[in-house]
Amino acid sequence: MTSPCYDVAIVGGGPAGCATALSLRSHEPSLSVIIIEASAYEPPRLGETLPPPARRLLDHLGVWEAFQRQGHREVYGTAAVWGSVGLHEHDFIYTPRDTGWHLDRAAFDAMLARAAPGALAFPTAPTSGRASSSMRPAALPSSADGTTLASSVPIA
Ligand SMILES: Cc1cc2nc3c(=O)[nH]c(=O)nc-3n(C[C@H](O)[C@H](O)[C@H](O)COP(=O)(O)OP(=O)(O)OC[C@H]3O[C@@H](n4cnc5c(N)ncnc54)[C@H](O)[C@@H]3O)c2cc1C
Repeated sequence: MTSPCYDVAIVGGGPAGCATALSLRSHEPSLSVIIIEASAYEPPRLGETLPPPARRLLDHLGVWEAFQRQGHREVYGTAAVWGSVGLHEHDFIYTPRDTGWHLDRAAFDAMLARAAPGALAFPTAPTSGRASSSMRPAALPSSADGTTLASSVPIA
């Protein structure tokens, strides 16, 4: 049996993997891209906040309308303790055109994955991939149906 071969295989369908897939296909629509994701985006995932400038990125990725339809709660600033005892406050009053959003992360990640081009494979076991500099097709882990995938450029 021959393995399905993709130009690019991305291991991990989080925001980075999906944004990579969306950007690659927008840059070069002829590329075949597959995302291999271990989860089915089921909750819970850490809820997080996106600051107002993220709107430009969502627009760039072509998912702004889909994002708006999800109804993430608007926020007007953040306060976080991160790496020190002090509270870091960031008030979005300085970016008056837009608000930020408190994300439902599972829904957000699933929305990005649905918008991303190509098939989404769910492996049965944890996968690993290594970027290949040789540009030769590399064997990738089996998908849930037991198919072995191959790709010119694996990204993990
Ligand atoms: C506590 C905390 C709070 C944060 N708060 C914010 C915030 O408020 N705002 C903000 O913008 N960022 C925040 N971040 C950062 C943000 O979570 C990360 O930058 C972002 O999730 C990174 O996206 P990613 O796609 O690289 O990785 P991830 O979101 O980790 O996605 C990785 C994906 O790969 C999949 N995967 C893992 N292993 C495999 C495997 N072997 N095979 C196949 N698939 C696999 C996972 O299921 C997952 O879907 C926070 C992070 C933490 C830890």
